Amino acid sequence: RFSDRGFFLNPIITSVFTSERYQRQIIMPEVGVEGQEKIRSSTVLVIGAGGLGGSILQYLVAAGVGKIGLVEADVVEGSNLHRQILFTHQDIGQSKGAIAKAVLNRLNPDVEIQHYNERFSIKNAYTLVQSYDIVVDGSDNFPTRYLVNDACVLLGKPFISGAVHRFEGQVVLLGLPDGPCYRCLYPKPPTPGLVANCAEEGVLGAVAGVIGGLMATETLRFLLGLHAPKGGELLQVDLKTFRFAKFVFSKNTACLLCGEAPEIFDLLENYEAFCGIPEQIAKVVTPAELHDWKIEGIDYFMLDVREPEEYAAGNMGGHLIPSGQLTNRLDELMQYRNKRVVVHCKSGGRSREATKLLLDAGFTDVWDIKGGFLAYLAFYHALDAFGKSTP
Ligand SMILES: [Zn+2]
Repeated sequence: RFSDRGFFLNPIITSVFTSERYQRQIIMPEVGVEGQEKIRSSTVLVIGAGGLGGSILQYLVAAGVGKIGLVEADVVEGSNLHRQILFTHQDIGQSKGAIAKAVLNRLNPDVEIQHYNERFSIKNAYTLVQSYDIVVDGSDNFPTRYLVNDACVLLGKPFISGAVHRFEGQVVLLGLPDGPCYRCLYPKPPTPGLVANCAEEGVLGAVAGVIGGLMATETLRFLLGLHAPKGGELLQVDLKTFRFAKFVFSKNTACLLCGEAPEIFDLLENYEAFCGIPEQIAKVVTPAELHDWKIEGIDYFMLDVREPEEYAAGNMGGHLIPSGQLTNRLDELMQYRNKRVVVHCKSGGRSREATKLLLDAGFTDVWDIKGGFLAYLAFYHALDAFGKSTP
């Protein structure tokens, strides 16, 4: 068509120009046809399709990244919907990854989406990271952040780390040659329970969207070569006071992973243990299964290990012993030693420790309510509102 009119354009430029889709970003001098081609020929691994992942994925897919890998094994829950904008209430109980893939395919059929229906773990980390140009970590927990860091640094892959909490969040590009890694910034994980997650402390949906959008922007800045050459520019956002602040980090020579005398040469065996999270050794019961137990008339004793204020604000009728007092008040529970004991807290952190304590004390049939009181509320809310809930 062009040659008929007496001029020549190379095929890439022709295909880009003939599509309206990317016009508004191609006319930017920082992008251009060449930049669009860089974006199109890139592959990005996104971990999680939640509050951060949802907006990361939407913007990267809309921008025309060639291939996106999505690691996500969860199902949609009612409590996700205020911030996880890829999902609707009709998706409750369905695979997040499958729904996300369908939504994103509709958004931009040019982009290949590969959904990995598995958790990002030491078993698959190397294989997954190896197959992509850059990793974007939209997870919400410290074990995954350290695992992403270690896998990326050991394989020499750049990655973008992000976090969101209430009105605040942060974004940083790490793992570039001579640049810092996550362990350079945070050599030790925080004390468990000291730093809360979304489930415990909450998050404003729009704030998760802002942070996810920043992570997508930083990804594109990297793909276009507009990033700081060594990364390490940490953008801290506080939207309660409407403040953005930038801190620049360089490599920490004492870093155990990427410093001058490294001591870590492979992935750790257990990132949860590294972050001080006790192993789940009690049996786990979901709110839906507990609901069935009630219907079936299965007898159990319920222990609530939250604080009295939390109990007063709402409870499931359990016997209250705050987790900090459990060791000294085990006598109260000895009559239930051989009975079925179901333990819960707000979202599952304290109950995991409490169930371990009971098992160590010789209790024989101990269960941990998955997701705690919040999941229990969400289950009944969804049951009442939609007639179905997360299994
Ligand atoms: Zn480091």
